[in-house]
Amino acid sequence: MKEILILSGKGGTGKTTVTGSLAALLKNKVIADCDVDAADLHLILSPQVEKVHEFWSGITASVKTDQCTGCGTCEELCRFDAIRLDDTARIDALECEGCGVCAHFCPEGAIETRDNLCGSWFNSRSDFGPMVHAQLHIGEENSGKLVSLVKRKARELAESTGVDWLLVDGPPGIGCPVIASLSGTDLVLIVTEPTKSGLHDLERVLELAGHFKIPVAACINKWDLNKGMSDIIENTCKERQVPLFGKIPFDPDVVKSIVAAKPLVEYSSGPAARAITEMSRVIERWAA
Ligand code: SF4
Ligand code: SF4
Repeated sequence: MKEILILSGKGGTGKTTVTGSLAALLKNKVIADCDVDAADLHLILSPQVEKVHEFWSGITASVKTDQCTGCGTCEELCRFDAIRLDDTARIDALECEGCGVCAHFCPEGAIETRDNLCGSWFNSRSDFGPMVHAQLHIGEENSGKLVSLVKRKARELAESTGVDWLLVDGPPGIGCPVIASLSGTDLVLIVTEPTKSGLHDLERVLELAGHFKIPVAACINKWDLNKGMSDIIENTCKERQVPLFGKIPFDPDVVKSIVAAKPLVEYSSGPAARAITEMSRVIERWAA
């Protein structure tokens, strides 16, 4: 089984369009959406949810005011300045990082902690294969943990069902969720665009993947909108010995396919769909 992670360095470069089409083109696979902060692959693949699981992470602390003597120990120890002291202690939920130190050291046992329900993750089935995806509740943190969980569950499913591919739509950026999504990946496919920021984001992801010694390939989306910048990106890839797996031209069908909630290659046989289809063959050859 080969695991391919699609990354872009930032949102809006066409990462989900590419992933959605590869999900339709590559045979015998499990699909994972690790963009848990703003999951959108399900909008294209329309999976039917079969199992919903709760995602619990971190704690919330609160003061039992009837037991608090106002000694101030918790206020002194809280490194996040989340505790105000009047007659009794009060915890500012927005500042609290859930470290639990105050509860541990309160001499009166006046601080209780409860686990946080941060979101949900799903086992689903789609026309394109089984899918593992998730949704973090608004304002919740710990998306790196949820990304790791989605990846782990998708990989367990892929291994137990003996599929050929694990196709992962990665989170945007290069932060903790992306680092969490990199573990165990056979190939990172970077979707970039012919702009200065596209080049910058490509270089950031190359650096990150290089740090973890993960093989990388790239593709340029809407390459024909700025051919000069596309050439620069292509040269950068050559210099860094990063194979360019595809160049996808601008195609109005991309937006129409999103509106129609379908993978591009299922909706259109236009130039962008043909370029992604050709890229899927390159990926199959790479895996052979
Ligand atoms: S440490 Fe406990 S008793 Fe002391 S102020 Fe904080 S909550 Fe109240
Ligand atoms: S749990 Fe940690 S961050 Fe939150 S109030 Fe207590 S000491 Fe401060």
